Amino acid sequence: MSSTRQLQERFAAALMSNYGLPPVAVRRGEGCRVWDVDGRPYLDLIGGIAVSTLGHAHPDLVEAVRAQVATLAHISNLSLHEPEVRLAERILGLLGADGRVFFANSGTEANEAALKLVRRHAGPERGYVVAARESFHGRTLGSLAVTGRDAIRDPFGPFGRPVRFVPYGVPEALVEAVTPECAGVILEPFQGEAGIVEPPDGYLRTAREVCDATGAVLVFDEVQSGIGRTGNWFYHQHAGVVPDVLTLAKGLGGGLPIGACVGLGRFGSTFAKGDHGSTFGGNPVSCAAALAVLEVIERDGLLAHVGKLGEWLLERVTRLELPLVAEVRGRGLWLALALREAVAGQVEEAARRAGFLVNAVRPDVVRISPPLILTYEEAQSFVDALPTLLDRR
Ligand code: PLP
Repeated sequence: MSSTRQLQERFAAALMSNYGLPPVAVRRGEGCRVWDVDGRPYLDLIGGIAVSTLGHAHPDLVEAVRAQVATLAHISNLSLHEPEVRLAERILGLLGADGRVFFANSGTEANEAALKLVRRHAGPERGYVVAARESFHGRTLGSLAVTGRDAIRDPFGPFGRPVRFVPYGVPEALVEAVTPECAGVILEPFQGEAGIVEPPDGYLRTAREVCDATGAVLVFDEVQSGIGRTGNWFYHQHAGVVPDVLTLAKGLGGGLPIGACVGLGRFGSTFAKGDHGSTFGGNPVSCAAALAVLEVIERDGLLAHVGKLGEWLLERVTRLELPLVAEVRGRGLWLALALREAVAGQVEEAARRAGFLVNAVRPDVVRISPPLILTYEEAQSFVDALPTLLDRR
């Protein structure tokens, strides 16, 4: 079997450089732990970037996938199958709303569907969409066009229709930018890649109101914030503001690739036959995995667990009063340490050496987005290790 170093050499020779050279070669996982190919264990506080909702190799997920792949792995959208119908019904049930669902394979594809839906609904007169600075919506050209990070967007422009970027969390800027010529507004109701940034109270309500007043379509991208991450099924439920279109992915499949674009109310009927599609989108195996994820979250009371453990963890880390940490923020199991210096990469590395996987989401922000099954003991072990690993960075 290859060591980490050997695999890295082969990786560098055979794979494109877009991810750089990942520092860890993971062989297997169980619960919230993973082991690298050299046998070293880590507590996985990244969870595949908010994906591994039930941790690794969860027995319910394994059994759901095993049973489905042994029954029907793929059939395409030329036929329907029960897992996709059940999953769509289940998601609508969690939203407590009428609507319809389109299944894709990833977050960026869910957003592509949403952007096409906006364009279809708005027609040619409404020429632009509004998005937030520092937002992240994905890497395909449509989603990238509305991603508010110049460094990753600009090298690939120009894009199709104009996008007006507004500062996130500033209601006045939204009111000014959204006019009757605006087709839609796409927002993360709680920004993830920006460094775990929750908007001020009332911001999402303003977004709803200005869209209602102008006829623009309101899209919430909950690809990262959805599926229990913040202690509710969806973050917008904390704010009590319902979008017209909702996108999901990441945690929905618990590690199997799936994305969803939900059109609520009349927005469920915008697409007509032939308007959109995906060969693999909503394949039976990913749908079975997602059904298992939702079932376990409900059965095991994970929403309440995430809410309580998240508060506990935030309070414990804050109480450490670490000199390097300017702020501990976030909600549920989606937390950030905002640092006083741009040394998040070094902190990530020091954490790794101490046996914890965390993520330098920004030069000065460390993010954790662990599995929702994280225990108090596991969280405590991180709290105990933090002061030393920050010193050792
Ligand atoms: N939207 C948000 C809010 C995200 O955080 C991400 C990924 O980080 C995406 C979309 C893109 O998802 P994917 O990488 O599955 O295409």
